[in-house]
Parts: sequence; C-alpha cells; structure tokens
Amino acid sequence: MNVLVLGAGQLARMMALAGAPLDLNVTAFDVTSGNMIHPVTQTILGKGLESGIEHADVITAEFEHISPDVLALCEDSGKFFPGENAILIGGDRRKEKALLDNAGVKNARYHIINTSEDLDSAIKKLGFPMILKSALDGYDGKGQWRLKRQEEVTSTWNEINAFLQHSPQGKRQCIIAEEFISFDREVSLIGARNAKGEFEIYSLTENIHHEGILRLSICATENEALQNQAEVMFKVIAENLNYVGILAIEFFEVNGALMVNEIAPRVHNSGHWTQQGAEVCQFENHLRAICGLPLGSAKQIRPSAMINIVGDVKISEHIMRLAHVHWYNKSPRPGRKIGHITVCEKTTEQLIETFEAIIPLLEKEQFPALHGIKIREHLTLKKKDEHP
Ligand code: AMP
Repeated sequence: MNVLVLGAGQLARMMALAGAPLDLNVTAFDVTSGNMIHPVTQTILGKGLESGIEHADVITAEFEHISPDVLALCEDSGKFFPGENAILIGGDRRKEKALLDNAGVKNARYHIINTSEDLDSAIKKLGFPMILKSALDGYDGKGQWRLKRQEEVTSTWNEINAFLQHSPQGKRQCIIAEEFISFDREVSLIGARNAKGEFEIYSLTENIHHEGILRLSICATENEALQNQAEVMFKVIAENLNYVGILAIEFFEVNGALMVNEIAPRVHNSGHWTQQGAEVCQFENHLRAICGLPLGSAKQIRPSAMINIVGDVKISEHIMRLAHVHWYNKSPRPGRKIGHITVCEKTTEQLIETFEAIIPLLEKEQFPALHGIKIREHLTLKKKDEHP
C-alpha cells in the first residue's frame, strides 16, 4: 500500500521506517517546498500534490499546521485519516477548546482575545497570572506569553497586537487567554482507534519541558486511577471526532485529577518511547489504523524513558551501549529536535541506574532539563507519597 504523509519531518521518517516490514510504502509531501520527498533519505521525488494524492492509497499528516486548501484537496480524495476536521481542530486552539467543551472534557478556563478590550475582559474573568496563546501556528511554546500582573498589561498587549498585525494568517489568527494551572505534573496519553471503533491505548507518560520544548518523557510505573481517568477522556474525544489513527492528548495533573491541555491528531513526541518500550510502537499502530490493518498491542513491555536531542549535539558511543539512539537526518539549529534517545530496562530500579549513568555523559548546556533532575520523583504516575 502507498501512504502519503503531509509533512516531511521526523514523524514521517519514523512512520516510513515502521511501515517497511508491513510493505507499506511511505512518501512525504513537504508543505513548504511543495515537493514530494522520500521521508528517510530526503531525496526529492518530484513536484505536485495532485499526483501524490492520486498514487496514494491512504493519506495522513505528521503535523497540524497545514493550509486549508491542501487539507480540502486531501479530504476530497476520500483517503485522508484522521481527516480534515481532526487536523483543523488540532491546529486551531479555538476549535480545540470548543471540541473539549462540547465533549464535556475538563480543560483550563479561557477567553478569546482579538482586541485590548477582550484582554481586559479576560483579566476580569481569569485573573492573574494567565497564559496567552496564539490560536494558530503555536507549537513548542512558540506564540505564547505569560501575564503575571496589572503593570505588564500594556506591554504585553503591545507585543500581542504587533504579533496579530503581522500574522501570516491575517484575520484568522487570534489569541486564547487561559487561566494559569498550577499543575503537579504534565502527562500525555497516546492511543490508536481504527475505523471499527476499536482502541489500543498506551500507558500514560510523564513529560518534562524546558523553554516550551519537550525534553524528557518517562513511562515507568503505572497509576491505575490516573490511567483510567485519561482513557475515559481519550475515548470521549476520539469518538467525538470519529477518529482513525494515533491521537495524543496532553494533560495537566492537579491533585490527582486530570484536565486536558491540548490534543495532537497524530503520532507524538511523548510516544517515542513506544519504539523500544511497547509491543507495537505508535508509528506502526498509526499505519495499521489508517490502512485498515488489525491494530497491534499497545502493551508496555518494560519501563522506558525518552530524551530529546535538541540543537547541535553529539552523542558518545558510551551512550549507544546503554540506550537506543534515533537520529532524524536533520542539520542542527538551536531549539531544533534532531534526534532522541530511548532508555529501556527490565525494572524501574535498572532504568533509574541507567538513566543516572547517562546524564553525566550529556553536556549540561545541551540538556538543561536533565541535570539535577531527581529521576525517582519523576518515575511517577505514582502518587507523590508513594515514591520509593
Ligand atoms: P502548549 O503549547 O499549550 O502545550 O504549552 C506549552 C507549555 O506551557 C505546556 O507544556 C505547559 O508547561 C505550559 N502551559 C500551557 N498552558 C498552561 C496553563 N494554562 N497553565 C500553566 N502552564 C501552562
């Protein structure tokens, strides 16, 4: 089968690698250049989305920020999963919030901002501090502001107003003000749903960010109560969207209760540990779901962690003896994810040991969130008082 992926980055690459044993031939469409690309070698295969669509049996996407024209063209082919609607919702925080509210899923209170009067209303409704996020094109912490006190209102509005005036999205762009959530932890749930409505859901993963970029995901010990809460919300959202493929949901945990931060209608960085830590990884399960093949087991086979490689970083051979290294064939730039490391061990204690052996081998400046981390406190999804 031929699978066309909108987007030619690392997620398309890892889909291609996972699809090869199933004879799934993955090509990618680079939405920026308009080129068809081989997702592993990055060879240009030619121009033209139309012929790419024609040759594809199935179409999917590796990110949400795709022009509505391209999405409409793919949707018209009848081959697009999870489809135009899910991608549009994932790429627009306004639509995402409306979906969560309609589905009755808990999320941070918010207010939509187009003018300075709207910002005043948001302050009355939500108070300080608040987070302001661009509705479109927001990822890895881009297009975000924190407003802590009244004295910052004018300068923040000036910045936001300039951002809105210069937005390539024009009038479609706006800002969502969100109440600040004092969360205990950030976690995410990744799962697959197929066209028959069957699910395979992975274990809840804890995520640690630095400067808006995911640095570390840990999937070690399980908290049944949290897992169940997350799965209930996951199923409500996936069914609401009549979703086919892998869906990722990011949550805040506050006093043992989850609320949704955002959804990603695609394979997700916090699910990369499944490559070595689960029976069937998220990339293969996404392909299985969209190609109408049986879903594979999402069962976790061993405690796992995933470290993102961000910027111009070299990884020593010693690390390769301890863990799996995945490169993305990308030239390094500050803040750019160019690879990741998966660390997996038979037991949680062994995972801690290996993780603690790896940290000193990573440069402090290049892995800012990892040095000084108390890994035991993060091998959680246990309640706080249950730490070993
Ligand atoms: P997002 O792009 O929405 O995932 O936001 C990036 C990061 O900002 C999240 O991973 C959180 O660490 C933080 N964040 C986002 N929204 C909120 C919120 N409402 N309250 C507190 N922190 C937030």
